[in-house]
Amino acid sequence: MLRISQLRLSLDEELDCLKEKLAQKLHIALEDIVSYEIVKESIDARKKDDIFITYSVDACIAQEERVLKRHYRDVVKAKKEIYPMPKKGVVGLMHRPIVVGFGPAGMFAALLLAQMGYRPLVLERGECVEKRVESVNAFWKTGMLNEESNVQFGEGGAGTFSDGKLTTRVKDLRVRKVLEEFVRFGAEKEIVYQAHPHIGTDVLRGIVKNIRKEIIRLGGEIRFETKLEDISYEKGMLRGIVANGEYIPCEQMILALGHSARDTFAMLMERGFPIRAKAFAIGARIEHPQALINQAQYGTFADHKRLKAAEYRLVHTASNGRGVYTFCMCPGGVVVPSTSQKGHIVVNGMSEHARDRENANSAVLVQVHTDDFGNDPRLGIQLQEKIEKKAFEAAHHTYLAPAQRVEDFLQKKTSMALGNVRPSYALGVTLANLHDILPDYVCEAMVEGIQAFDHKLKGFAMADALLTGVETRSSSPIRIERKKENCMCLDIEGVYPCGEGAGYAGGIVSAAIDGLRCAEKLIEVYTYDAQKE
Ligand code: FAD
Repeated sequence: MLRISQLRLSLDEELDCLKEKLAQKLHIALEDIVSYEIVKESIDARKKDDIFITYSVDACIAQEERVLKRHYRDVVKAKKEIYPMPKKGVVGLMHRPIVVGFGPAGMFAALLLAQMGYRPLVLERGECVEKRVESVNAFWKTGMLNEESNVQFGEGGAGTFSDGKLTTRVKDLRVRKVLEEFVRFGAEKEIVYQAHPHIGTDVLRGIVKNIRKEIIRLGGEIRFETKLEDISYEKGMLRGIVANGEYIPCEQMILALGHSARDTFAMLMERGFPIRAKAFAIGARIEHPQALINQAQYGTFADHKRLKAAEYRLVHTASNGRGVYTFCMCPGGVVVPSTSQKGHIVVNGMSEHARDRENANSAVLVQVHTDDFGNDPRLGIQLQEKIEKKAFEAAHHTYLAPAQRVEDFLQKKTSMALGNVRPSYALGVTLANLHDILPDYVCEAMVEGIQAFDHKLKGFAMADALLTGVETRSSSPIRIERKKENCMCLDIEGVYPCGEGAGYAGGIVSAAIDGLRCAEKLIEVYTYDAQKE
């Protein structure tokens, strides 16, 4: 098989033309192409007057060696990349493994365990997705928050109410496994090869449900509305856990809590888990008209039917030395109320599959270092909480999010009225000065960053663009230390700190990959026979 890259299609050429382009590039007849499969598709919009789509394909062709000898650029020998299922270990387990948390990390850990016959028991504090959607909608309509089931907690984890972007910089065969499983359970097949794949919250909810059903079909059990409350271990070995008041003996547990389980983090710290503070980021969401972003990225092609809502990703280093960057950009999406605690305001972004809403939104975040708050892991969480509470106070103790026009933010003054960018935040906004809520070092860097981004993306600093705060939960403020060789918690055998909350992932795909990684480590050493329990 050969991998052929840099095949170009114009925006007006249909995908069927790819075979012809392939034959032309290799100087072979169409009949010599036995089969081909797209492995990468990306839009090249570097020149606004010459936008095209590039492809890499894996092709089986007649006389492969002869073609290779011609030394074409962009043609190399390739092998089909398949995720190798782990080999089972021999140490017998008395009890089935437990997975705590059913976000991407816990979900993929449980799926792999189930596929390998380990019949995992999954504990998830939030509701199943059907009930969770109702709880989230109730909060977004009335401000009545369910602290156990919300945008952060519940089936599918933090990513369920998201844009479902699947971009990752991780190069790993597990990425393919994750994307292929998403397709198997309901995503479009194109996500496997697109450079910037995305699913959308509407489709993602169905996928999450299908993965749950598969785990159950394979003998796993999932208990929703069931919270891990305590952990017991003796001589550095896990013995059991308490969930909803029930003691459950267990020897192996994948702990995939996400970054918002502050009460559970507190319990782990009390129990002596090795937890340390880590850097994170803070900022606000910015909204622009999607049409402006399309124009800036695609110029005269902005309305072309082959081009979807445009994206951006911008970075800058501020004069105070801090990185400022856009994060989790949601084309054609909405800013969503994302708190899991009463009296706190937290924002994030979400899009449907069609990405067809009026506004584009993205976080504008600034790095926060451990030096800013101290090395105690509680202090990073306290800083997040303080800012979230300040935002609630600025909104006069309501869940209306504090918002500010960009022009006013740059001049450090409270907005007196909204401009022509309408806020998409479901609960509504209150006009405020984000300089009164976010730390000075964050605001200084944001001001510089927004101005710098305007040079890279025309219109980014438009006067009426709207900032909505606060975005404090983009990553975990802690890391639960684990051993590199087996992913087990330092000092506590049998516990695998996993995913974003434990500090080993950032985003849906990397969390899912870490879930697979932890499950693999467990499987490679242990075996479980349900008959013996
Ligand atoms: P989580 O998804 O946070 O899952 C942890 C789970 O553990 C939760 O369901 C929680 O209820 C459960 N839990 C916590 N404590 C307990 C306990 N004591 N007992 C039982 N269960 C417990 N990332 C992207 O890559 N692309 C995006 O487009 C994107 N958009 C996002 C939009 C929003 C609104 C949000 C909030 C996040 C978004 N993210 C996105 C980030 C992404 O969702 C996270 O990186 C990812 O979900 C982390 O996965 P995880 O499994 O490690 O943790």
